[in-house]
Amino acid sequence: LDLRISQGKKTEKFEINFAKYIGTKHAVAVNSGSSAIHLALIKSNVNPGDEVLCQSFTFCGSANPIKYLNAKPIFIDSEPETLNICPTYLEAAIKDRLTHGVKPKAIIVVHLFGMPANIEAIKEISKNYKIPIIEDAAEALGSKYKNQLCGTLGEFGILSFNGNKVITTSSGGALLVKTNKE
Ligand SMILES: *Cc1c(COP(=O)(O)O)cnc(C)c1O
Repeated sequence: LDLRISQGKKTEKFEINFAKYIGTKHAVAVNSGSSAIHLALIKSNVNPGDEVLCQSFTFCGSANPIKYLNAKPIFIDSEPETLNICPTYLEAAIKDRLTHGVKPKAIIVVHLFGMPANIEAIKEISKNYKIPIIEDAAEALGSKYKNQLCGTLGEFGILSFNGNKVITTSSGGALLVKTNKE
């Protein structure tokens, strides 16, 4: 009988079942949602001095990991429809940074309060400028955008299992990875 919940067989089973439910290639269990964003930023090649676009209306856990890497958050205001990142402001910010010779490394999109962001428009921008999306679905486990679960819509998705979230492991999180990309 293995009663451990923070490591061992149960965690492995949790990861496998979770990836199956959510529909991503992998779900990596970590100690917090913030850690999952931290890992997603590392895998997006964010280095000291880099810039990362981040929704401004959110919990600080969306932005703190940018600072863990000594990178710089560029905060983007929300749109009235979803209260999440505004695609128009996002594109304007990217254009502004490009005219200053800086290409942001990632876009952190949040589905705040379980409300999906305007993903279709954001994906278009991500594709056009070749900047990956990190989807902060910490508050959106089970939420869907056009029938697709939040957390599966970007390059990386993250979930939080902190005490105030949809499900809890007391403290915890997951990094959702779509592909087998190393
Ligand atoms: C809770 C939360 C996080 C961070 O999760 P932790 O597990 O507390 O580190 C990140 N973003 C949002 C929007 C959250 O609500």
